[in-house]
Amino acid sequence: MKIVHSISELRAQLRGQLRTAFVPTMGNLHEGHLSLMRLAANHGDPVVASIFVNRLQFGPNEDFDKYPRTLDDDITKLEKEGVYVLFAPDEREMYPVPQDYRISPPQDLGDILEGEFRPGFFIGVTTVVMKLFQCVQPQVSVFGKKDYQQLMIIRRMCSQFSIPTEIIPAETIRESDGLAMSSRNRYLSTDERLEAVWLSKTLHQVADRIRQGQASTRITVDDVVEIESAAKQILNHRGWRTDYISVRRRSDLKAPQAQDLAEPNQLVVLAASRCGATRLIDNLEI
Ligand code: AMP
Repeated sequence: MKIVHSISELRAQLRGQLRTAFVPTMGNLHEGHLSLMRLAANHGDPVVASIFVNRLQFGPNEDFDKYPRTLDDDITKLEKEGVYVLFAPDEREMYPVPQDYRISPPQDLGDILEGEFRPGFFIGVTTVVMKLFQCVQPQVSVFGKKDYQQLMIIRRMCSQFSIPTEIIPAETIRESDGLAMSSRNRYLSTDERLEAVWLSKTLHQVADRIRQGQASTRITVDDVVEIESAAKQILNHRGWRTDYISVRRRSDLKAPQAQDLAEPNQLVVLAASRCGATRLIDNLEI
């Protein structure tokens, strides 16, 4: 694997490549990330990964400084996956001058759910992804459904800017008890790690109740609101601090209307909640 730190070296490595498949990450790689590398290899060649902890997407009180940085381990994992180039720029390379040109997602997608609780988060994400796409110029790029809203925002950005990169979604990889893999899981204490399973458990309960309601054809918009608030209560009674548990339409992440509830495969339930000091997100398609 070629490890490059500068944009010019990256461009030199990729000159003439027409089917580049790209997987952007912030490192501290786990099986979820590695599944994206494998999916990328099915859709293009060479596979290029990036590792860059993007300051722009962290709020002032978030974990930018303590975000786990494990480059040597990450390199070993990527080499095993047959990744061709790792692009690992430092901040001076990515942001040699303040990045005051930004990509701003539409408010109805960028300021809801994650965007409501992490103001500016998606501006940071889309700006760095746009910049990385300019550097790599990939034909395809793989993003995880774990970050469901991010995936949708990136897809729409590519469509609106006519970026010739196909966005491939990857399923969420989970631990054996159901906890979605995440670099932030390492912040959990032993007890919190046991408790953390309740996030995916609660999402399953929501999905089951919605499906039962759909099977009986009687579920209403009010029922959905009640199911959401009952789920939030379950977590909060266990000591979690929940930002949201919301059932939304898969197509645009808006709250479902009566006609959306009548059809199968239209919905997704998304959640963000704090287990101790660690904020976890997860979602489940219904
Ligand atoms: P991150 O390093 O957290 O920025 O994530 C990089 C990419 O990996 C994003 O597209 C994430 O959605 C994806 N990802 C993170 N966790 C998982 C997981 N458990 N399963 C699948 N993809 C994931």
